[in-house]
Amino acid sequence: MIPEVLDIAIKDIVTIDSNKTLEEAVKKMAASNLRTIVIASSSDYQILTTSQLIDFKLERVDHTTKLKDLGLKKVKVINKNLNLINLLNQINSTEEYMVIVDENNKLEGILSYTDIINNIDPQMLMERQTLGKLILNYQAVFAYQDSSALHAVKLIKNSGNDAVIIKNNDEKAVGIFTSKDFINLIHLDCDLTQKISKFMTSPIKTLKDHSTIADALAFIRKQKFKRIIIENDKGYVTGIISQKELLRIVYNKWIELMKKEGNKISKTNEELIQTQTELEEIASTDYLTKIYNRQKFESFLEYEIKKLDRYENGLFTILLVDIDHFKKVNDSYGHLKGDSVLQDFAKILNFCSRQSDVVARWGGEEFIILLPHTTIEEAILVAEKIRSTVEIHDFRDKLSLTCSVGISQYHKNDTKREIFNRADNALYKAKASGRNKIEIEVLSCNV
Ligand code: GH3
Ligand code: MG
Ligand code: MG
Repeated sequence: MIPEVLDIAIKDIVTIDSNKTLEEAVKKMAASNLRTIVIASSSDYQILTTSQLIDFKLERVDHTTKLKDLGLKKVKVINKNLNLINLLNQINSTEEYMVIVDENNKLEGILSYTDIINNIDPQMLMERQTLGKLILNYQAVFAYQDSSALHAVKLIKNSGNDAVIIKNNDEKAVGIFTSKDFINLIHLDCDLTQKISKFMTSPIKTLKDHSTIADALAFIRKQKFKRIIIENDKGYVTGIISQKELLRIVYNKWIELMKKEGNKISKTNEELIQTQTELEEIASTDYLTKIYNRQKFESFLEYEIKKLDRYENGLFTILLVDIDHFKKVNDSYGHLKGDSVLQDFAKILNFCSRQSDVVARWGGEEFIILLPHTTIEEAILVAEKIRSTVEIHDFRDKLSLTCSVGISQYHKNDTKREIFNRADNALYKAKASGRNKIEIEVLSCNV
């Protein structure tokens, strides 16, 4: 079951009116211990994040500035019923947050990359790709513990990283200073010239660079950290990767996997359909003559009867065609010759009938043809064409044969047995009256 966006959104949100000031926003953020705050105006939403706060602080933006005058971007508004897959198709990597609203546009939550990452199953993902390879792209920034808070803040700002790793003089990582720490720092109006070690979080938890991405996702879930600090076996920090970056990698990989799986499934589907078609063909074809067999013919006959039972003026006829004295062919020339005669005979029947007619082998040397929309008179013409073609045909080695045909027509409320029996009786009559003949059905009085 794919979760809906509201299932995974942060519902614990703090909003502030866009007419309030930057100072009031920082106060609310620090009090609620949140890194973001939703700014609501009558028509849309903005989100104030910690990294934007750093910018404002460094740019010495007046803390009494109204929030609506900060020039913040409007954020994407998403309906709460959207599911995660659809959402993934809509987001682009520059949007860190989205707001979720209900049908009446009431704010229900906010959603970040972090929330999405927590809802992707790591089992599916790169079990083997190690963090060591990844962090080649994600270098950490470092500050010594004796440097000033201002230095660390500037590093955050200039590197684009969300955090600085604090090292001691032995180059070992002793703490981390994040943009969230910065919120508290400005809220409390601390002196930025003080040492960073005073404000950092210490000690830090790290992951080894040979851990897999799946390990990293599990780590983030368990520890609820925003970022992963990666160190080598010697204990030196080699990189730092945020959830957001990890998500981007994971997301791309996920899509790749989905596409591959999708292709595999549609290929298997095609193969199944192909096999099914082949099986259906085998099941409906006579092995010797390659025309329809009796079962298939009966299903056509049933279909035609059902169709005509619904519409008033429909009609069709059937021809039952039997080779005369066929037994003699087998007796005189052998079964193989008999088989090839049957194959030739089927070709003649196909040749004498139309594309829309259904030609089938009823069994042995008996064939049957369904002629849709055809009257008895028209059917007699087709039967005569068959009879005369067979009569003059050379079945190789100067073998000449004849055939007899019984014809019947569909009458309202006929069963397939009834219409067949009338053709069979007509055929019997043709045989009895000397063969190489065509006979039509005899209707009983109550028809
Ligand atoms: P009639 O004019 O009364 O129809 O005489 P017939 O000899 O054609 O009819 P009968 O029913 O007496 O014999 C049909 C023969 O067809 C008997 C059977 O061995 C032969 N036959 C049935 N199926 C096949 C087949 O698949 N291959 C071959 N070679 N012979 C077959
Ligand atoms: Mg026969
Ligand atoms: Mg027969």
